[in-house]
Amino acid sequence: MHFVKFRKENLFPFLEAVSSFPDTELAAPVKKGIKSYSYDYITRKNFGNISVSSLRTILPIKKFFLKPIEVMFEESKNENGRGGKTSGGPVADYNDIKEPEYFCGIKRDLVIFGPHQCDINGKLILDEVFGRNYRDPYYFGDSCNVRIIGMNCMPDDKCFCKSMGTDSAVTGFDLFLTDIGDYYFVSADTYYGEKLIEKINSLYSAEGASLPFFENIGSRDRSKYLEFIEKKDRSFTLEMNAKELPFMLEIKKDSDFWDELGRRCLLCGNCTNVCPTCQCFNIFDRVSFGEGKANKRLRTYDSCFYKDHARTADFNFRKERKDRVKNRYFHKHNGFYHMYGKSSCVGCGRCIESCPTGINIVKVFADLWEYGIA
Ligand code: SF4
Ligand code: SF4
Repeated sequence: MHFVKFRKENLFPFLEAVSSFPDTELAAPVKKGIKSYSYDYITRKNFGNISVSSLRTILPIKKFFLKPIEVMFEESKNENGRGGKTSGGPVADYNDIKEPEYFCGIKRDLVIFGPHQCDINGKLILDEVFGRNYRDPYYFGDSCNVRIIGMNCMPDDKCFCKSMGTDSAVTGFDLFLTDIGDYYFVSADTYYGEKLIEKINSLYSAEGASLPFFENIGSRDRSKYLEFIEKKDRSFTLEMNAKELPFMLEIKKDSDFWDELGRRCLLCGNCTNVCPTCQCFNIFDRVSFGEGKANKRLRTYDSCFYKDHARTADFNFRKERKDRVKNRYFHKHNGFYHMYGKSSCVGCGRCIESCPTGINIVKVFADLWEYGIA
């Protein structure tokens, strides 16, 4: 890890320089409503809308890798018509299917500015899910050239990443910025990050600047960085007792608690859509009959809250509301431990913010602790 700093008023020139590199796209949080932010691709038009102070975006950065809607492939026309079909009947020549260019021959760098530690840790979790046993080509299609410039943050009343051990990110980024007053304290963790520092310093000196863009840090900067970390640590107001959750969930798995929660939950799936680590998807074909239109195979977000999520040809093994609600908590805080040795919740607070009935995961577990066994 290598530390440098740059002046805070130079943040936008820094991002402009990054986005000006060949074959590079920049994505960053932009303001969408009074208090809502969304990651967006940045162009000249919306450059001024980049938000440096956004805490949590509506969707996490997973939307760039696990897209809300992904065209897996589409059937192209050949000289005889669509998919080799010559006349009537469901004929399809799958030699004509076009697959997206998803391997790392890669045409561009996608630099994502702004993710906080919870989202960086969330991406590391998804990378494992989509890459450990089978490398999902759609997920990694873009992400093999993804560069992360993270940004440190102060928690609000919905953040509990400290309880989940995801309030710091020691890897998973190229550069990471922390506000230390007049400067950003910059941690560089990768070759790309180091190269970016070099490239921007050379650009800057080529333009005749007397000082380098990135400056060396001194002991005062180190102290200010540590002060930030300590202040952040003291600022958490929401805390979850996550230590014994896998056991507690097992012990109370048949509790009436889940019935009660199932009656409160609308099973709308808001919380799973916005979660940086929820990963369920559905795959279906969209058939187009119009002239010049191609049939498509699509992959979209799914949710374990939905009624059909566990439907098989024969029966639905999570038909009851209580079972679907319980499943999400079990998967995140019990099943994931067995597969990956940790919880898959990074404490970002998005599910708390987006739930229309005010279900709060921290309160759910606090109540479960108090609830009887029956
Ligand atoms: S957002 Fe709230 S109501 Fe909707 S599925 Fe999640 S917990 Fe249930
Ligand atoms: S379960 Fe809720 S708090 Fe945990 S990572 Fe998902 S959205 Fe964030």
